[in-house]
Amino acid sequence: TSAGSTVEDAPATRFARRARAVIPGGVNSGQRSVPGLTDLVITRADGARFWDADGREFVDYHAAFGPPLLGHNDPEVAAAVAEAGRHADLCGVGVTPGEVELAETLAELVPSVEKVLLTSTGSEATFHALRVARAATGRRLVVKFQGCYHGWHDSVSLNVISAADRVGGKDPISTGILPEVLDATLVLPFNDVTAVRRTFAEHGADIAAVIVEPVPHNVGCLLPEQDFLQALRDETTRHGAVLVFDEVITGFRHALGGWQSISGITPDLTTMGKAIANGYPVGAIGGRADLMDLFSTRPGAPAFFAGTYNGHPAVVAAALATLAKLRREPVHEHVFALGDRIRAGLAEVFAELGVPSVVTGYGSVFVSYFMTGGVPRGYDDLLRNDVSMFVGYRRRLIGHGVFELPLNLKRSHVSYAHTEADADRLVEATRAAVKETLAS
Ligand code: PMP
Repeated sequence: TSAGSTVEDAPATRFARRARAVIPGGVNSGQRSVPGLTDLVITRADGARFWDADGREFVDYHAAFGPPLLGHNDPEVAAAVAEAGRHADLCGVGVTPGEVELAETLAELVPSVEKVLLTSTGSEATFHALRVARAATGRRLVVKFQGCYHGWHDSVSLNVISAADRVGGKDPISTGILPEVLDATLVLPFNDVTAVRRTFAEHGADIAAVIVEPVPHNVGCLLPEQDFLQALRDETTRHGAVLVFDEVITGFRHALGGWQSISGITPDLTTMGKAIANGYPVGAIGGRADLMDLFSTRPGAPAFFAGTYNGHPAVVAAALATLAKLRREPVHEHVFALGDRIRAGLAEVFAELGVPSVVTGYGSVFVSYFMTGGVPRGYDDLLRNDVSMFVGYRRRLIGHGVFELPLNLKRSHVSYAHTEADADRLVEATRAAVKETLAS
């Protein structure tokens, strides 16, 4: 157009249109595209904020689903990555000093980790955890829990956020998965000790692994009851199955040693990712040396493990810089205090406006459900969440320059870069956004 500026001229709109023409759905990962928010084109992220192609600024509580615990573009992490790039990209043979240092650091920090392997994503880590569990046990079945997400591969691509009528059955998140694979995954309710004991009584000799998010953050936040995690530990030990804690979210974010260091319950294998490298593509699988040693680095070993980009120097440098800063600075103190301030502020606003809510989370993770009946114990409880309020409130928050992903049951994150003023801004924006939602 030549004369005058129209909405169509906005750079974000133009990029988004180009994206939709060549990228299916216009984005490169599920749930990056939000209904009603089709023209979100991001050009910059720094500290607690990101900016879009139209120059709009957002206080970011989405945090890319969790990696940037230190905040976006942390100067120490950025410098370490730049420095790594001056020395080497990738040789794909042998090992680098950084990989050794990172493996030693992970083994030192995470109680279950005696040996560890790096991947590029969390999905690869959980994939390999289940593969090696099957290799070690010679068994077929895997147990997961409704509401837990462990990545995109077939054995775990079921029963994450299920509609009420799909809870209790198999609910794949994709077509194209072999029915035999779905058959080999048993799905149980979280925090249900009886279901765990019953399943092991029936199928114990066939269960290779139990995989669990110790805190299921892929549905916001369900806090684990201690006797539940203990039952997982006891039953897997008794029946010779492998217990996998998927600490891709909880690891490093909730404590340097993960939820296993908080609960005192040590799994056989741990999968990690996200906050290890503050936004660079990383995953890791670690655990008992006898299990980890089954992975092949030579032909003929029982379990095969590979990945062209595993232990990439830039990623390893990002991880070492991130972990060094997490150990040196009061990061957890800061994000836990801000998390508490936000949870208290939000609960006060919802109460003041007469909106039934449960504001929960742990440390730096927070989520506001709109429901009565107290803190949810399991996925069934989350079916009471008022989805239109949950999504509508967050959609309107964005209009106030504060970003929480407007999709049902998504958690939000505080980083070391967020300030008390940012927290208070969220609380004030919430007051306005909830009033707008109620009025709509
Ligand atoms: N496990 C958990 C608990 C996760 O939250 C995720 C990602 N959201 C994954 C595994 C998969 O990680 P990635 O997306 O890096 O493959």
